[in-house]
This record gives sequence, C-alpha cells and structure tokens, in this order.
Amino acid sequence: MPGNLEVIKVREAKETKANQGEVMVKAEFGSVNHVDIWGRMDYPWHRFPRRFGSDLSGTIDDPGMSSMLRRGDRVLLYPIKFCGSCEMCLSANENSCLSRELYGDHVGGFFAQMVNVPEKNIIKLPDNVSLENAAALPVAYTTAWHGLVVRAGLKPGITVLILGGSGGAGVAALQIARAFGARVFTTTSQHWKSERLIKLGAEAVFEINEKLPDNVIKSSGSVDIVFDTLGSLTVPLGIRSLKRGGKLISIAMTTGSDFSLNLRDIYSNNINVIGAYLGTRSDLYDVIRAVSSGAIKPVIDSLFPFDEVAKAQEKMEKRTHFGKILLKF
Ligand SMILES: [Zn+2]
Repeated sequence: MPGNLEVIKVREAKETKANQGEVMVKAEFGSVNHVDIWGRMDYPWHRFPRRFGSDLSGTIDDPGMSSMLRRGDRVLLYPIKFCGSCEMCLSANENSCLSRELYGDHVGGFFAQMVNVPEKNIIKLPDNVSLENAAALPVAYTTAWHGLVVRAGLKPGITVLILGGSGGAGVAALQIARAFGARVFTTTSQHWKSERLIKLGAEAVFEINEKLPDNVIKSSGSVDIVFDTLGSLTVPLGIRSLKRGGKLISIAMTTGSDFSLNLRDIYSNNINVIGAYLGTRSDLYDVIRAVSSGAIKPVIDSLFPFDEVAKAQEKMEKRTHFGKILLKF
C-alpha cells in the first residue's frame, strides 16, 4: 500500500533462484535516495507490495554461469535495468535505454539480504574501495558525474552553482566540481550545513530566495554551470544566474516539475538546458576510480541497520542529514 513511513515492513521473502544471465549477490550496504521515499507514493507504475533500493554493494554469493565472477567478489550494482541491444545501449548510453527501468522505482529494488541481478549490472570493486563507501555512489555520485563531467564539460577554473547543496547529489556535485578544480557556489537553508559545505570547498553558500541570482552574480560574476537538484522552485533562479552560453543541468524535481519561464532568458543568452537521468555504467566506473584514487571521499551522514529503513527515510524526509544515509545488511 502507498502511504507514510508506517507502510514500510521488513519481512521474510521466498528464496528465488537466479535466472539465466543473473548472479546472486549477498547484500552488505545500501544507501537511501529520494526515489525510495517516492516509492511509497501512489504512482501509476507502482505495484504494491514493492521493494525499495537503488544503491547496493555486496559480495557475490552465486556467480551463476559467469566466467568473470567468483563467490566472494566485492561488487557494486548499477541501478538501471537496461536491454543491452537497443540503439542507446549499443552506443553505451544505458541511462537512455529505450526499455530503461530503475531498480527501486519501475521494477523491484535491491534491498534484500540476497538479490538476483543481471551480470551486466555488476561492477567489481577495486580492493581499496570499501563496500560502505561504494554503496554511497550509484545514484548520487553517478548522476552528478554524468551531469557535470559528461554533459556539461566540467573543467578547471570554471564556476559552478549547485542548487540544493546539502543532499546526496548536491554534496556529490560539490566534491566532483572541486576535484576538477572548479570554483563552487552552493545553497542550503540550514546554517549548520553551510559550515560543512565551506569545509568541502564551497566558496560561498547562499539561501534560496528571489535575490539568489543577484547574490550569485555579485559574488562570482555569474556562473558557467548550474547543477539543479530541486526542480521548479530553483530552475528559473538558476537560469538567471548563468553567464551567456551557460549550462543548466536538471537532475530531479523534488520541489515540483512545472514553472514558467521567459524564453528570452534562454535564447538571447545562448543558454543550454540539460536533463541528466542518472548516468551510464562508464560514469559509475569513473566515479569508483575517482574514489579509489583518493580524489573523492564520499560523505556519509549516518548508518542504520537495514530493518530500520523507515528511520533512515524519516531522517531524509526531515532533512536533518548531510551527505548519504547508509543501511547495513
Ligand atoms: Zn537498451
């Protein structure tokens, strides 16, 4: 049933055998995303009961027919179900697969102690990337990487404004932008989070209100890239904060999806509006390498036992977190 936190139940599930092409993974760590909270909503494509979870790390329990994987291998799961043979998949754009489904949204999620996953969704982890850190990466860090690095061409010295700076993807975007040597301006509505954002390398932290574009332009002289995690509340403000030729990346619609816009702000300033839906397997692999090299250290807010997933979601809903909320299986 859709509903509030009380609809979440932890229960025994029937063990199922892996299908052809699948491997069985023993879960170790997961992380909570807004999509988990939306998972309780009465969306037309949601069938109840349903399982949460788009971010999961673990070890291989049964490698099935795989010639590459062994029992005990430490792995991270790519959270998009993709066909592997459509025109998008053949050009390595799995996040645009024509039959794309997100685990934990369109299809059942990963949050179970044992889960069967297509082998093509498995990424083996380097020895120096912990299962705990890995679980923070798939949704938040891959989306930020895909948007900033791949789609917007992040490079040293440019200026980035992050709208919704203290959530998982906002913090990820800040860390990635700083790792590339960009100047970063960001936002939060909570004072204690400003200090954390400055420590991570933000040059200034703004409140979100009508004066935001003026305040940004005063501090930075307008920005090259806006990374928006909030939606209708902030996209119009973001567009007005951009330089001519600037790029706005939209990754979510937490505050709503509809807004009005003066098109003159777009065409007369040569603005690029970019939608970014998660990222590709290659983007996730790049993020893992950035963590392995020490360039990025995921920010973990807290760790809950998996049977306290309702408490973990509550923390996210109340916005008392900074960075990623993890679950231990
Ligand atoms: Zn496909």
